[in-house]
Amino acid sequence: MGWLLLYPETLGGRLLLGLVLAGGMGGLGVWRGWLRRDGGLAATLVGTLVFAFGGWEWAVLLILFFVTSSLLSRYGAVQKQVAEGRMAKGGPRDAGQVLANGGWLALLALWHARQPAPWVFLAAVGALAAVMADTWSTEFGLLSTTPPRRITTGRPVPPGTNGGVTLLGLLGAATGASLMGFVAGLLILAGDVPAGLGPGRLAGVTVASGLVGTVVDSLLGATVQAVRWCPLCREETEQDPHICGTATHRLRGWSWLDNDVVNAVTSVTGSLAAVLLAFLVGLL
Ligand SMILES: [Zn+2]
Repeated sequence: MGWLLLYPETLGGRLLLGLVLAGGMGGLGVWRGWLRRDGGLAATLVGTLVFAFGGWEWAVLLILFFVTSSLLSRYGAVQKQVAEGRMAKGGPRDAGQVLANGGWLALLALWHARQPAPWVFLAAVGALAAVMADTWSTEFGLLSTTPPRRITTGRPVPPGTNGGVTLLGLLGAATGASLMGFVAGLLILAGDVPAGLGPGRLAGVTVASGLVGTVVDSLLGATVQAVRWCPLCREETEQDPHICGTATHRLRGWSWLDNDVVNAVTSVTGSLAAVLLAFLVGLL
């Protein structure tokens, strides 16, 4: 495609153009209140690496995740605030959240620059499908009028509880992953990704790996993710200090396994699922 000629031939040129584009996205995010300032810097770093080492296709998929998820998190914001009081971080995303969602993708982009192969692109698409499905399921789920149920026991839990799932959240996950699969398929049709990946089956693998990532995220949230306790508000939270300013202590779960670590695991899981599924259906 003609516009791909805009992709600079030298690494220096790619890094420079990537910095301009990613800096613009990061700046937009900070300006719109999607990102905190450190989150904007982290997004600029991730975006620059993904564009310079992954290429246009990778950047398009990353922007798709970033923009749609940011817009979604603003939708129904008042209703969500109630639920988000329980969650680790509502509101603008910080550097930890950005790196948890995009750090693995940046590493894959570096690998791609060193040794491009169909599985690396699949791993990237799978990782993005997983974080997209997970983010969309959270945002859709927070709007659910029926309370979520814990994925492991099926018992109702308060909105915003990790490991809680709703039908609306599942629908959100499927929609987000499908959109990622659809756009990844279009990029395949554009013909500038490694040969051997058909658009239809790639889209199917993308959707499936997004759902696998979301389910793993929920399972971790329901079992081993750290849950903290605010003694003042007398409620469970992930925050430390709590939104009220009180220091919280660990109630259960592994203290190091906070929301950011779970999101990073979700991202890697999406990659593993995509590569494994692609192998099983004969794409690799
Ligand atoms: Zn509190």
